[in-house]
Amino acid sequence: MERQAVQRAREAFLSGRARAVEFRLQQLHGLKRMITENETEISTALKQDINRSQYDTPLLELIGIENEIKLAIGKLAEWAAPRSVERNLLTISDEVYVQPEPLGVVLIIGAWNYPWALTLLPLVGAIAAGNAAVVKPSELSECSSLLLRALLPRYLDKDLYPVITGGVSETQELLRLRFDHVFYTGSGSVGKIVMEAAARHLTPVTLELGGKSPCYIDKNCDIRVACRRITWGKFVNCGQTCIAPDFILCEPCIQGRVVECLRLTLLEFYGADPKCSPDYGRIINTHHFNRVMGLMEGYTPVIGGQSDASQRYIAPTVLKDVPPHSRLMQEEIFGPLLPIVAVSDMEDAIRFINEREKPLALYIFCSDKKAAKKMIEETSSGGVVVNDVMMHYTLSSLPFGGVGQSGMGRYHGKHTFDQLSHQRACLIRSLGMENVNLSRYPPQDRRRARRVRMALRAPLIDMSKRTFIWAVTATVIGFGLFVALMVILLIAAGLNCTCWYWRGFYNYW
Ligand code: NAD
Repeated sequence: MERQAVQRAREAFLSGRARAVEFRLQQLHGLKRMITENETEISTALKQDINRSQYDTPLLELIGIENEIKLAIGKLAEWAAPRSVERNLLTISDEVYVQPEPLGVVLIIGAWNYPWALTLLPLVGAIAAGNAAVVKPSELSECSSLLLRALLPRYLDKDLYPVITGGVSETQELLRLRFDHVFYTGSGSVGKIVMEAAARHLTPVTLELGGKSPCYIDKNCDIRVACRRITWGKFVNCGQTCIAPDFILCEPCIQGRVVECLRLTLLEFYGADPKCSPDYGRIINTHHFNRVMGLMEGYTPVIGGQSDASQRYIAPTVLKDVPPHSRLMQEEIFGPLLPIVAVSDMEDAIRFINEREKPLALYIFCSDKKAAKKMIEETSSGGVVVNDVMMHYTLSSLPFGGVGQSGMGRYHGKHTFDQLSHQRACLIRSLGMENVNLSRYPPQDRRRARRVRMALRAPLIDMSKRTFIWAVTATVIGFGLFVALMVILLIAAGLNCTCWYWRGFYNYW
């Protein structure tokens, strides 16, 4: 079944219909309609999958998808247009540009924690770039997966954008087939399987992975505000967010205050019993419930720690003085546990971060902008936010993605379009002006070689439309000024002559 769907997608792509900008726009409008007309169904599916609050689904997923679609619709003509580039002396009169072109058939493999955003955001870029795309949502968020399979063909071209549901074996079956790009979101261990499978076909990959995103709280900051923002980012979606702050780094002297502020905020957000709060989620399945509970073993939480296996409920939990080499600090938590690790100062925090794998996100809470910038300069991560968490995800202008073990490639907004396009180098020359080219042909001599070297070494010239318009405008204005100056000079000279004449006439009398 997978093979046939991929075959149909390839044939549909080869038919050429996905390339037309009009067709891409029509499909993007269809996708937007799918979201707006089915918001309630989507929220219900997520309630069943992960007990997500009906208010959170639009905020955390749907508005972002709609914004990306709107952006793509508004900018598609500009993104898909040829991009003019600089020329050298040998190509000065030629047409030189970069033409984004579709890659072909893209495989999109999504994860379960944000099943709509993680499949549809790459799909927006795939459609905008003119590709066909096979969408494989995660089997763990089953209700969302089945709903996506039912909805997508009602709004989009059935052959170009099929949805394949199923688990590991279906994904592995897909990975045996040849694609032109694989866009995978999920864990690093499966990321390696995906990359290995793609390598067999020399298929490029985008890997949106996870990792432990550190959150440093400097002692010179408003700890109350910092803790409110961190609590939201950590416990929304029950901690199952790839860019959630994984752990806190702070000096021992503020640890007590941090714990107190987290406690107050949790009370404010979820009440005395978060289990009864409509805003607090559940762990996706029993396997992950047991995994997260296992990470807590041997620790006494300072906040939370309660659980209920029958509901896959784990209370928002904070643990302090966690040793840096504990199990809790070795793997990504991906659940509602927030360990606090003591560091002696900012330098120590930087050292701590740099000794570990590069994270997907780094959060710095610090009122000294200079110190925050120093921390940015001396560390590396997929993204970094100062004085907040996760908000960089909401900006389509920022590339979203990891570095090192947290992933490769980037997306959101135009970055998705570029990621799923081939940037084709185009040079269109004429067969005239052959004299210019003679010096590069054999037989070579010193004079000819010198000429070519000079032409190749000359600085590149920007001949883009805008530069051309600027150059013409500047020339016209310059020429106008020159003419005006000449006229003024002539008039002045004329007046002077007249003055002299009258002065002479007066003197004579
Ligand atoms: P998951 O188990 O749903 O797996 C993701 C996809 O991989 C699914 O479609 C699944 O069918 C497929 N898959 C699973 N095992 C496979 C195997 N053995 N062979 C082939 N395919 C397989 O999701 P997950 O991996 O549990 O997701 C959680 C991880 O994803 C976390 O590490 C999180 O940080 C990361 N994540 C990253 C981002 C991001 O944007 N960077 C977003 C969400 C989640």
